[in-house]
This record gives sequence, structure tokens and C-alpha cells, in this order.
Amino acid sequence: DTVSLSGKELAAAINADTKQRAAALTASGTAPRLALIVANDDPASAWYVNSLRKAAERLGIACDTIELGADASTERIRDELTARSADSAVDAIMLQTPLPAGVTLDDVSSAIAAGKDVDGVSPLSLGLLASGLDGFVPATSEAVVELLKHHEIQLAGRHVAVVGRSNIVGKPLAQLLLAENATVTICHSRTTDLPAVTSAADIVVAAAGRIGLVTGKHIREGATVIDVGTNEAPDGKIVGDVAAETVRGKAAALSPVPGGVGPVTTALLMRHVVTAAENSRSA
Ligand code: NAD
Repeated sequence: DTVSLSGKELAAAINADTKQRAAALTASGTAPRLALIVANDDPASAWYVNSLRKAAERLGIACDTIELGADASTERIRDELTARSADSAVDAIMLQTPLPAGVTLDDVSSAIAAGKDVDGVSPLSLGLLASGLDGFVPATSEAVVELLKHHEIQLAGRHVAVVGRSNIVGKPLAQLLLAENATVTICHSRTTDLPAVTSAADIVVAAAGRIGLVTGKHIREGATVIDVGTNEAPDGKIVGDVAAETVRGKAAALSPVPGGVGPVTTALLMRHVVTAAENSRSA
């Protein structure tokens, strides 16, 4: 039978620690404060923003949502990020994706100060990660590694296939897995024979944003499958990239959507917010 790799227990443990640290910051002056910058009208993004707001509230983290509109320009977004980076009342900044048509993350992310870049999206944060130096790591990638460790799935020496090469999930995840001594293959939309590549791996991470992309024929018997996908199905439900019914029985373990990577990602982001606040208070 396929084991379900829930993220709920791990998220709860992280959150318990974060809540205490947030309370200590509040007791000694001000609550940690996160600014969420949104420039889209995407339903999946709205769902994510709402879950972040609720998580922050539960943990004692103040949260401002700044809606710039789905037609915001590169300049407008950069100006907002620059202003929040300079604002000492703001500890942490998160820029939601998708961005407006014509605006790329690369055009704007360098305007986020590294000390407030809790989702590790700026070129500086990504460079620190690639160099093996300290900085904020993209929370989704970190969540995949933490979820695997929590469920005691060995990474050292094992072959992990990552499906997706974005700067916010696939690429940073590959770096983190390398740091755990895994052998990493990155697959993407131009990979010629995806099932051949992924079925050679011990662990497959699906992070493509395509409903049902990874099926039973993409994995080998006994593989571990991590589903990062957070896609809105036609019926409005949030579903992953893995066709779970075709993988169950063949995979040794599969992370569910929702309830797998998602809650751990949110918990790690909130932990980063508190860390950013602690760093700025002690500076
Ligand atoms: P993205 O669109 O930026 O990147 C998708 C990647 O998948 C690209 O590198 C592309 O080459 C690859 N890809 C697309 N189609 C493919 C195919 N047919 N075969 C192989 N590779 C293919 O997306 P992203 O921002 O990296 O997000 C990926 C998924 O993860 C989305 O579903 C997103 O919603 C989800 N996500 C989840 C969390 C979470 O906390 N659980 C956080 C962030 C993103």
C-alpha cells in the first residue's frame, strides 16, 4: 500500500515554535510584520494569499496585503518592493505570482531586500543558496526536503527527479537536494521522454503546475512521489500534478494535495518571517 506523506504534523510542530517566537517579539515591542504584494486576479493565488493571512493571524504575525492590480507595471511593482524594503515597520516581503503579463519575476525580485526576502526569490537569495551560503531559501523547496526528512526518507546517494525548473521551485529544490547529497535530475517542458527519466528515479517531485502530469507510468515500483502542484481544477478544487489514483499501489509513498507540501510551505514561510523579525530587532 502507498503511504500518505502528510505535512500536517510537521507543520504543527513548526508552527508551535513560530507562535512562541512571535509572542516573544510582540512582548518585547512589536509583532513581526509581513507584507504580501499581489498583482494578479488569479483564483489559485487568491486562495494561497487567504491561507497565508489566516496562518499569520493564528501565529501572531501581522500581515498587510497590498493589491496592485493585475495590470500593474514593472515599475509600479518595483517601487512598491523598494518602499517596503526601506520601511522599518515591515519585517518580511512576499511577492505573489503570477505577475502581470509582460512582468517577469527577474524584472522585480531584486528590489526585495535580502533580509526581508522570506521566500528567497531575489537573485541574491538564490545566489546564496547556489553557493551554499546562508540566506532565505524558497519555502516550497525547503518544504519538500523537510517533508522527506520528517518521514525519514533517505536522500543521500539516492536519485531524485524534479519535474519543473522554475526559479521559485524546481531550481532551488535541486540545490537543496544536492546539499543533502542526492543525485538530482531536473526535468522540464522540453524533456524528451519524461516517463523514461522519472521512472529511473527513487524519488519523483512533481512541480510543473499541470494537473495529472505524473501518472503511474512515470514512476517505478516502490518510488516516493512528492506532489508540489497546486492547481485549480474545473470544479474549483485544488489538485496536484500527480494522478494519485494511477500512482497508488505502485508508489511506496505519495504526498497528498491538499495536506502535504502545502501546510509545510506555509509553516516555513511564517518561520522565516519570525526569523527576519528577530534578525532586524537584534541588528
Ligand atoms: P512554473 O509555471 O513557473 O514552472 C513550471 C515548470 O514545469 C517549468 O519549469 C516547466 O518547464 C515545467 N513543465 C511544464 N509542463 C511540463 C511538462 N509537460 N513536462 C515537464 N515539465 C513541465 O510553476 P511554479 O511556480 O514552479 O509552480 C509549479 C507548481 O507548484 C504549480 O502547480 C504551483 O501552483 C505549485 N506551487 C505550490 C506551492 C506549495 O506551497 N505547495 C508553492 C509554489 C508553487
